[in-house]
Amino acid sequence: MTCTLCREDVHKSFKGINDILFWQCNNCNLIFKDVEFLPSPEAEKLRYSQHNNTPDCKGYVEHLQQAIEPTLPFIYEGMTGLDFGCGPNPVLSQLMSDSGYECYHYDPFFFPELPDERLEFMFATECFEHFFNPGRELNLITSLLIPAGVLTIITERWKDTTDFNTWWYARDNTHVCFFHDRTIEFICEHYGYETMHDDGEKLVILKKLVVGR
Ligand SMILES: [Zn+2]
Repeated sequence: MTCTLCREDVHKSFKGINDILFWQCNNCNLIFKDVEFLPSPEAEKLRYSQHNNTPDCKGYVEHLQQAIEPTLPFIYEGMTGLDFGCGPNPVLSQLMSDSGYECYHYDPFFFPELPDERLEFMFATECFEHFFNPGRELNLITSLLIPAGVLTIITERWKDTTDFNTWWYARDNTHVCFFHDRTIEFICEHYGYETMHDDGEKLVILKKLVVGR
């Protein structure tokens, strides 16, 4: 098996929740579901459509604030950004626009057009865990960001103590890859980022190095 992030050969696999076959990369520490357990595009779109996340939903706005508030010290009003993987209701870009930022949104299922300019900040909240091909998505994200651009990621990270037989995050059939602290380190080294903020659980704010790609 080839790692879907770093492309190294992966030899370690195990069965977890619902008898799902997981692969664990020894190089970047990504854990990803075997291709047989990936959802169909129809199943994915249906599942995302059921997310009832609207601007009127107070809980969802609070959830997005967990990404926005720690990002604000690293960006300025008037900057242009993108909510990558926004889902059917682009609430985050609206919140940012209301606060004086220009913010596009993109989602391969619902808003498949990318902006025609490079961006000063990007949000990817509850998005990385859905990537069938995180290496390709990170190439795309990195190419869209200007040097010194800010990338805010929320995805629950697995720990050395995580039990994939019981972990709720692995149960969702659209969650297909799982990042570890070391996976974030790999992303920084390989794609050229430095960590600005890390809550140690799910939120990490990266800055694209000026000398890089
Ligand atoms: Zn890997």
